[in-house]
Amino acid sequence: MVQIFAVLIVVALILVAVSWVAANWIPIAAVIAVGLGTWGLALLIRHIRMMRYFASDEFLAHKTAIASFVAEHNELARYVDEIRGRGTFALGWSVSGAQAHLAAFQNTSRHKYRRDRNIASYQTPFVHNCSLQVVRNASTDPIKYVMKYFNIKATETDLANVEDLGDGIVRLEDAITNLWQREASITQSFNPPKFIVKHYADEFMKHVGVVLSPIMVPYPVYMFEYVSAGGNSSQRTTVTLDRETIDAMIWTMSEKIKFRKSVAGQRALMTSQLRTMIKERDNYTCRYCSISLVAEPHLLLEVDHIVPVSRGGLTAPDNLQTLCWRCNRTKSNKIIAG
Ligand SMILES: [Zn+2]
Repeated sequence: MVQIFAVLIVVALILVAVSWVAANWIPIAAVIAVGLGTWGLALLIRHIRMMRYFASDEFLAHKTAIASFVAEHNELARYVDEIRGRGTFALGWSVSGAQAHLAAFQNTSRHKYRRDRNIASYQTPFVHNCSLQVVRNASTDPIKYVMKYFNIKATETDLANVEDLGDGIVRLEDAITNLWQREASITQSFNPPKFIVKHYADEFMKHVGVVLSPIMVPYPVYMFEYVSAGGNSSQRTTVTLDRETIDAMIWTMSEKIKFRKSVAGQRALMTSQLRTMIKERDNYTCRYCSISLVAEPHLLLEVDHIVPVSRGGLTAPDNLQTLCWRCNRTKSNKIIAG
């Protein structure tokens, strides 16, 4: 930042010098010099105001007052990293081009057409290369086509995998939303001057002590892609497995399984609807430590399988409970360790 001021002021000075030497350029150079100088000065003043704000007693006192809330935020940010690290966020694969790496394709056409602008992506498992018709159909019937062409079968095992994926996605989404809410409320509680919010948002968080991690939900993304033989045209349908799409897939799979009258058809489905129902049933209160949303408005609550699915636990209301993120984190760390 300070370097920018220095550069601007030096450039302004050079221009002033040049305008002395070359008489013809005086008016133009003078105008530019005055402009740059003013701009540099404005930036410098803003920078000084920013430093004074972060050093002010008011800022420092409030920083101390909310230190524990900030510490909790940072702990939650670490938890988000853990969820990301442990969860599986991929499912299914496309067989199209699975052996494409064994061949080399070259367009030896002598025409000067701009060919191969569109090159099919064969070596990624989440792109299905197909006809234009399939691309179109996938856009009207995404769940059916993703299942069909990315090998997600209507079986109990695959349904459990989709539910597991949904669990990871929803936990991450909820935790990230919770982090954002906490950050917004931290900013709000300081009520910083407008120029701070506008120009120094990141510096602000750094001075408060908030650890900002670049967090994104790694949604599985499936693509149906048609690339014409010459590579001149390409069309694509993209399906993202977000919360809503996962729920729709769970319903679709369960309908097919139910039709076959199997056990999985009879149990509850781990959908957003069920999660909300469990939290409501438990009065938005952690069943371990009894903290509730009433006591802590920013509390992150999760729905947990009492006996984990990996140990034969069923998705049924009596095997589900509401836990706060702290208790759930401790519980899953124990399960992983033991
Ligand atoms: Zn708890």
